[in-house]
Amino acid sequence: MRLENKVALITGGGSGIGAACARLFTAEGARVAVADLSRQGADLVARQIEDAGGRATTLSGDVSRRADAERLVSETVKSLGGLDILVNSAGITARNVRQGADFEEIWDTVINVNLKGTFLMCWYAVPEMKKRGGGSIVNLSSIIGLVGHPLSDGFNPYPASKGGVLQLTRDLGINQAKFGIRTNCLCPGFTRTALTQALTENPEMLARLESLHPIGRLGEPEEIARAALFLASDEASYVTGAFLAVDGGYTAR
Ligand code: NAP
Repeated sequence: MRLENKVALITGGGSGIGAACARLFTAEGARVAVADLSRQGADLVARQIEDAGGRATTLSGDVSRRADAERLVSETVKSLGGLDILVNSAGITARNVRQGADFEEIWDTVINVNLKGTFLMCWYAVPEMKKRGGGSIVNLSSIIGLVGHPLSDGFNPYPASKGGVLQLTRDLGINQAKFGIRTNCLCPGFTRTALTQALTENPEMLARLESLHPIGRLGEPEEIARAALFLASDEASYVTGAFLAVDGGYTAR
């Protein structure tokens, strides 16, 4: 068991990559707080975990709100006894912003959830990790944090938010290392989750996206979770401030 005696908080844990992380981390011995915007998805994932013999608790909150971020961390510590691992998987694209929002509201909303939300969660998690003598933060950036978006007009907040997450990761990685806290991020390629459903249910769009990945298909959430497990675990004890592309070769072209 690679995460025995560890406590993990996973935002966006009720869906997609976060849910896959929650299931895998508990199978590897961690006690997990599954946090999401709504409790419904988180509760479903917690039930799957408990049915498989794992231990999970659920929390709800909006990572872009300071008070919620603080509470997600403090409730995890209260119910599971501390905090060793934070996975920041909560994230949105412009498609998730309310209909009728103008370009400025779309920009602010995506940046607030993806970048400020990741920052706030790290802000409140780091002092708890220091109390334990260290910890591991895994942020979800994206291939779109490394290269431009293939389906954008250039005014898309998502690439900027994910590029920001990459730099936040590097800055935390080098500056918190002395406290035993490693911070890394994943840069997944297009992955089959609710986030990409609007794209993948269109056969022509799906074929176009698949052709951009040399492996010839999109990723599955479990494939991203396995990389998150590596970064979260002691197997990555000498890795900090780094990004790992899990992208079917997308960014190697
Ligand atoms: P997903 O299935 O949509 O899961 C994201 C989860 O985050 C959802 O449960 C969502 O809740 C939650 N969330 C949204 N806004 C939130 C907020 N303000 N506070 C708390 N939770 C919030 O998406 P995913 O594909 O697993 O994405 C996970 C992460 O990977 C994201 O950061 C995404 O940008 C990144 N990523 C995804 C891909 C991909 O192709 N799927 C590729 C690269 C990177 P609701 O469902 O209730 O809105």
